[in-house]
Amino acid sequence: MFLPDNIRVLMDRLEKAGYRAYAVGGSVRDSLMGQSADDYDITTTALPSEIKKVFSDYRTIDIGEKHGTITVISGGSPVEITTHRLDGSYSDSRHPDQVIFTDSILADLARRDFTVNAIAFSQSEGLVDPYNGCADIQNKIIRCVGDPALRFSEDALRIMRALRFASVLGFTIAPETEKAIFRLKENLHKVSAERLQKEMMKLLRGKNAGKVLLSYGEVIFELFPSLRAEYRHPQIGKKHAYDVWEHTCHTVDAVDPNDDYLRLVMLFHDVGKPTVETIRGNGDSDFTGHAEAGARITKEELTRMKFPSRTIEQTSYLVGVHDRPIPEDKVTLKRYLCEMGEENFLRYLQMRKADRGALAEPYRDISEQLSHARSLLEQVKGARECYSLRDLAVNGEDLENAFSVSGQQVGSLLQSALAAVIEEKCSNKKENIIQYLQTENKGDRL
Ligand code: ATP
Ligand code: MG
Repeated sequence: MFLPDNIRVLMDRLEKAGYRAYAVGGSVRDSLMGQSADDYDITTTALPSEIKKVFSDYRTIDIGEKHGTITVISGGSPVEITTHRLDGSYSDSRHPDQVIFTDSILADLARRDFTVNAIAFSQSEGLVDPYNGCADIQNKIIRCVGDPALRFSEDALRIMRALRFASVLGFTIAPETEKAIFRLKENLHKVSAERLQKEMMKLLRGKNAGKVLLSYGEVIFELFPSLRAEYRHPQIGKKHAYDVWEHTCHTVDAVDPNDDYLRLVMLFHDVGKPTVETIRGNGDSDFTGHAEAGARITKEELTRMKFPSRTIEQTSYLVGVHDRPIPEDKVTLKRYLCEMGEENFLRYLQMRKADRGALAEPYRDISEQLSHARSLLEQVKGARECYSLRDLAVNGEDLENAFSVSGQQVGSLLQSALAAVIEEKCSNKKENIIQYLQTENKGDRL
């Protein structure tokens, strides 16, 4: 099994000091899957004080000491070394409230959530795999260690973790485990919003996010009840191929997995639809106003789940603009850039692509509009055309000098100058802008 040299060195040192030492958890799972792991966890028979003694010449951090964890800095990165321990009740995702140390690796593995996470590896003993986690890795299965109902009752966060691993690893959830998930999903309300939210974001970044959302909507709706109305909500008309929830699940997969805002926006982009729906004369669904309604609902849902304020702001904003028409000319494009900024404009284009890509086949392809908008963007950027106050050839001071006006008036003059430059009614040169403002405001005292 692959282990980085610095981890082998740490494990060797513990063994030479007379303790047993195992790599465990996500790093062993990832290594067995042929993937490199971000962080390696070591579990040992040494007690925290003994770990510190063994690594007295290393820099160590002991904030997790009462849970049995000493962090040793090795090769510049932190490695968590934790004394084998028994299960206790968990109030955060990693540390039980009550810690009982043990010298049994089997007892330590028994407290772990899923078979694929309950494999240990030691340099002297090789793999320790009492729950057949290796077979489950091979068959791509997430299965609870022990009785699923009991394990989810101990800590309901494990329900979200099961979904998260299914999404990230592309695994399926074993039937008994799945049954317990659906039966105990209401226990998720006992878990703090912060813990749920972190697992939710990991789920959304996964390669199988859409599939997991589609199969486990019932679980997701415990976190975000407003999304429940999307479930099996029909969309009538030849444009549509899916109901609202299925459409949503497809769009999540279609955007950059490394952009949290985008993944979250797609999850919420149509949440307003069921609330605004009317039926057209021809019998088709009419969802006019759903983006604005969705922005409000998104804000409420993310606030309740205690997302960071920047995430709430960005996500609800992007939901609100997700269905605007793609700009076909430079002036419209510059208006969009002025309002959204370039980064969000690029997100908006991805949203349009994902949204349209999950319609009925003949309505999916908007590659021409998208490449036209991208080439307009390149032109605007290449020519350094002005679309924000930052690029405007005048600033407040220039206007104060040119006209005797108050601070408040300066602000609105700057805005009308920017609008004129964006609309190409006036070129972005100081004297032209001042002259433009003079002519425009002839009737007013400037
Ligand atoms: P990641 O790649 O996200 O780090 P991981 O499997 O390492 O995945 P962590 O949250 O870092 O997940 O937890 C490390 C290990 O601790 C898990 O592999 C699992 O064995 C155990 N574990 C973590 N949280 C729980 C929990 N809530 N219940 C039981 N065991 C848990
Ligand atoms: Mg980990």
